Amino acid sequence: MRSQWDVVIVGAGPAGAAAALGVLRADPSLAVALLDRDDFPRDKSCGDGIAPHVFDLLADVGVTGLTDDLIPVRRLQLQRGPLAVGREMARPAWVIPRTVFDHRLLLAALDAGATLIRHRVRSLQLDPLRVDDLEAKVLVGADGAHSVVRRMLGVRPGPMALAIRGYAPTPPDRAGVQLIVFGTNRQPSYAWSFDRGDGLANIGYGESLPDARSDRWSDTRSDRRPRPTRRELLSQLDRLLPGAAEGATDWRAHHLPLAVPSWRAGEGRVLLAGDAAGLVNPMTGEGIYYAVATGLLAGQAAAEAVRSGDFARLVPRYRRASRALLGKHFRHTALSARLCRSGKVLDAGIRAAAADQRVFDDLVELGLANGRITPATIRGLATHLRTRPS
Ligand SMILES: Cc1cc2nc3c(=O)[nH]c(=O)nc-3n(C[C@H](O)[C@H](O)[C@H](O)COP(=O)(O)OP(=O)(O)OC[C@H]3O[C@@H](n4cnc5c(N)ncnc54)[C@H](O)[C@@H]3O)c2cc1C
Repeated sequence: MRSQWDVVIVGAGPAGAAAALGVLRADPSLAVALLDRDDFPRDKSCGDGIAPHVFDLLADVGVTGLTDDLIPVRRLQLQRGPLAVGREMARPAWVIPRTVFDHRLLLAALDAGATLIRHRVRSLQLDPLRVDDLEAKVLVGADGAHSVVRRMLGVRPGPMALAIRGYAPTPPDRAGVQLIVFGTNRQPSYAWSFDRGDGLANIGYGESLPDARSDRWSDTRSDRRPRPTRRELLSQLDRLLPGAAEGATDWRAHHLPLAVPSWRAGEGRVLLAGDAAGLVNPMTGEGIYYAVATGLLAGQAAAEAVRSGDFARLVPRYRRASRALLGKHFRHTALSARLCRSGKVLDAGIRAAAADQRVFDDLVELGLANGRITPATIRGLATHLRTRPS
């Protein structure tokens, strides 16, 4: 096994595999090592909801056919207490177990020329750049919510959410549906049931945790308690989706690092992508789109730095490209996550989406990919905040 690589990527999940694809589509001659502590296929705690935009990004780098044998989900239903809206989405989404999606994406990266090495990274040296025994010209940290690369750069984690998921038989009335039921006290928090299309649904519950550095994220007394236990998460799930957990297996909980507009792109010759950079939508908990988007951009920036030998511009180039794609979006999701802490705003959003397909579509874009708070959404919210439900 060689010990010198052009690009070493820590983590072979969606961000890491996309980073490898980004490098190798830009320059197939580069030597790319993908390090992961797990054997693939491997499971990852997730709702398995994947926006169609993810496949647009992958098609741009020649990766197609990942969903050919799978059934898309066309309907999204949002509920809070007695309020509900259920509509077809403008574009169907996908619910794909991570054992399947991540493995297929990794195979595409290996097919493009990356080398997978099973290895748990423990140490990082910046000058010269070394990851344990491997030397690299550029390193991409794509090692998830508890990234060792981020920690070794000294970047503090931002706000977090905690969520648990399991798999249960899909009841007939939830077939073909992604259902989200918001909690009625602490926000943002919700239970979900996402039909996989194969007789099973991904079900779960998640809630944001109080900010470790302040209690800006707390808006009720109950938020100041310690983080919820597994039993408390499951009890919230049962409260919001009674009986959904019956017959469920494969429970797994994990943290979600919520995006803030000032996220750190990396330092020197090291880039951060996906959850390692803290890029989960703070309103919905979606992170796969951002992992693939930033992974691809990190890979392209890494290839350009190796080609030109100009490593001083590596981080600025990556930061500029990611801000162009996601900067405004993350400012809007930060604002919408704050607004969603108000039950009144959530109710108005559900009623506005029920009244107007455009508002529904715009909210889906904001929650799943890189949408904005649009004029139609603002008008809808304003109207339904003023009027009381009949
Ligand atoms: C319960 C739950 C539900 C969610 N639901 C959704 C959803 O429906 N849709 C959505 O888009 N997002 C969802 N998310 C978020 C989504 O799971 C993440 O945003 C996504 O997995 C990020 O991908 P990533 O490649 O950055 O990190 P990961 O998928 O976490 O991959 C990181 C990889 O790094 C490896 N690794 C970690 N440390 C090391 C180390 N020291 N050495 C070597 N390898 C290492 C791990 O083994 C792993 O393979 C959910 C998250 C949770 C917890």
